[in-house]
Amino acid sequence: KHAKRGQKESIPSVRFDEIGGQERAKRELIEALDFLIHRDQIASYGIRPIKGILLTGPPGTGKTLMAKAAAHYTNSVFVSASGSEFVEMYVGVGAGRIRDLFRDARTLARKKGKTSAIIFIDEIDVIGGKREGSQHREYDQTLNQLLTEMDGIQADQDVRILVMAATNRKDMLDSALLRPGRFDRHITVDLPDKKARKQILSLHTRNKPLGDDVDLDQIAGETFGFSGAQLESLTNEAAIYAMRENQTEIQQKHFSQAIDKVMMGEKTDRETTQ
Ligand code: ATP
Repeated sequence: KHAKRGQKESIPSVRFDEIGGQERAKRELIEALDFLIHRDQIASYGIRPIKGILLTGPPGTGKTLMAKAAAHYTNSVFVSASGSEFVEMYVGVGAGRIRDLFRDARTLARKKGKTSAIIFIDEIDVIGGKREGSQHREYDQTLNQLLTEMDGIQADQDVRILVMAATNRKDMLDSALLRPGRFDRHITVDLPDKKARKQILSLHTRNKPLGDDVDLDQIAGETFGFSGAQLESLTNEAAIYAMRENQTEIQQKHFSQAIDKVMMGEKTDRETTQ
């Protein structure tokens, strides 16, 4: 999903209205982002800038999409990294990678004539796990570098940096990360309810030929527990079933087959990881 390193999109095209459901999360995020947009006003009240926003929730619920939409909304350049990149890095390399990430964000923003940058770190728990008794001492330098960079963010810099991070294990994070001035805003991105599932299904079938018998409401009702990513996969699988049968349109039965397939896939995933 993320290029291994140095992945840069200058400004992502994702808009908040392309994210199904997540109404409360979007509202809370936009409220925080308005601080970034109206930073001069914020500064005149002596309000401390928001430096870090933590998105928490199960895999595939749209956390990355939210971070990209945040960059689009605030006209910020976007750079990203994933905690998993830091696994098995030699001591010091991870810290260097963090330093580069912040430097790249500033350089890219200047090059694009933008005044803000969003740095997105997926799977933050890999580098920001609790330090007490941890066996992952090699991550300490990486985490320390991240904390140093965040502490160095000032409201009056020519490029304002906002760090967004995602995790599905908030309880695992080191408390140093959660202190005021660091990741002190937490937004929960939950699995979609039925209404949200229907919205997500509609979004991902916009560009697909749907037969008259397709009932997205019914499909939403039959996909309790599915994440946005699984729903996206479901629409794709349904289209593949239709194509295999040389049908010009996707029918309800193709969706039923696809539901079984996605559910089975989950089961095998679990079996292989346990
Ligand atoms: P992970 O924790 O596994 O990194 P994530 O929460 O960051 O997952 P995304 O990468 O944002 O999830 O979502 C993966 C894909 O699933 C998206 O590119 C999109 O196609 C689809 N998706 C997930 N949530 C939504 C949503 N709320 N609305 C529309 N599409 C969604």
